[in-house]
Amino acid sequence: MKSKLFGSSGVRGLVNVDLTPVLVAKIGLAISTFSKAEKILVGRDTRVSGLMVENALVSGLLAGGVKVNCLGVVPTPVLAYSTGELGADAGVMITASHNPPQYNGIKIFNGDGVAYNEESQNEIESIVENKSFELADWRNIGEASFIDESCLYIEMIRKNVKLNEKWHVIVDPGCGATCYIAPALLESLGCKITAINAQPDGFFPGRSPEPNSESLKSLAKIVKDLGGDIGAAYDGDGDRVTFVDEDGCFVDFDRVLAAYAACVVKRSSGGTVVTNVEASMCVEKMVEARGGKVVRTKVGDVYVAEAMKRCDAVFGGEPCGAWIHPQFHYCPDGILSSVLLLKALEDEGKMLSEFVSEVPRYQTVRVNVACKNEVKHKVMEKVEEGLKSLFPSCRQVSMVDGVRLSLEDGWILVRASGTEPFIRLTVEGESLKAAEGIMEKGVMLVRGLVGEVGR
Ligand code: MG
Repeated sequence: MKSKLFGSSGVRGLVNVDLTPVLVAKIGLAISTFSKAEKILVGRDTRVSGLMVENALVSGLLAGGVKVNCLGVVPTPVLAYSTGELGADAGVMITASHNPPQYNGIKIFNGDGVAYNEESQNEIESIVENKSFELADWRNIGEASFIDESCLYIEMIRKNVKLNEKWHVIVDPGCGATCYIAPALLESLGCKITAINAQPDGFFPGRSPEPNSESLKSLAKIVKDLGGDIGAAYDGDGDRVTFVDEDGCFVDFDRVLAAYAACVVKRSSGGTVVTNVEASMCVEKMVEARGGKVVRTKVGDVYVAEAMKRCDAVFGGEPCGAWIHPQFHYCPDGILSSVLLLKALEDEGKMLSEFVSEVPRYQTVRVNVACKNEVKHKVMEKVEEGLKSLFPSCRQVSMVDGVRLSLEDGWILVRASGTEPFIRLTVEGESLKAAEGIMEKGVMLVRGLVGEVGR
């Protein structure tokens, strides 16, 4: 195999180029070999290749002797939650999340509905590489059946969250996995629903499966034109949500994360919030002001979920819109997040624009410095010391992912790109001027180190 099979969010690749049915069947067999599972649930998003990948995966699982329950098209959080609820030993989601339609991927969850960590993923990868598969005797080949148990997930939310207002929600599933369940659930909670891009379509004709300010322009316009209270858009597999406020304005990812985190911390009179190294410092500002504490992890929801369990966190999430609500389950859940945000707005008596308005607005700048892949680690070895002497008054140094320094008026993160010949610098400052000042120093340092090591 040319490159690593698993990334920070499972296997991802171009269908029939990287991700072929042959490889998928091997992964299925490797999952069965590694997990020694008796029962595994399988779900998929709406991608054109979904059924092909599912058939190959199920074939591999059956060959290993696993009993397979196929859930059909479901959001990732529904698959993860059902895995725990139905007593399965693992759950496998076939999705490439927010990637373009020609991609697909595989994400694995354990019996508690928590995504496989790096260690487990590496074990599966080595089984595939070494072909150390355990095939079942012909008498013990598994059986596959189709089940529809989405009601369990819907009931879990309906039992725990009651909305008092009749919110007019414009829902945009983007033709992805949430297209049935998100509008239906919100309606059952008493919301008035207008749904767009709500038919399953693996070509994603309405918008990109990645919700962002660009792809949500039509949602924003519809919220404004119809006078809706809020717009909620999900990514291809529904573990992320993105919002448009009542004025039809796209809501900044970091600021809504910070506002919601602050609300949870206030409600629980303190507690830990987990986010990744790239999230804005507005999360600390909001959470610490309410007596909470912020823990930062590497980028990737698996790392956030692991840290949340470790610290017994009250909430966690990444600025891409992947929020984890530990009182329900540990898989990022876009649908649940939208319901809980509405609940938070009710509790605070605010519309979304007002809810987010108290979160400070900071400025972020990003620069990539070219650096050959072979010497990236050598450069990174020297970055910590270099940055510390560059910013002697820094408040905190974190090495969870690259090197991150918290400064008086911002922070700087220096990371080697996992795949490309770059060292990536991210800086956030209280003002653009502050951010650019920090960045200028950082870039000079990294360029100098690249020159030194390259000689
Ligand atoms: Mg996703």
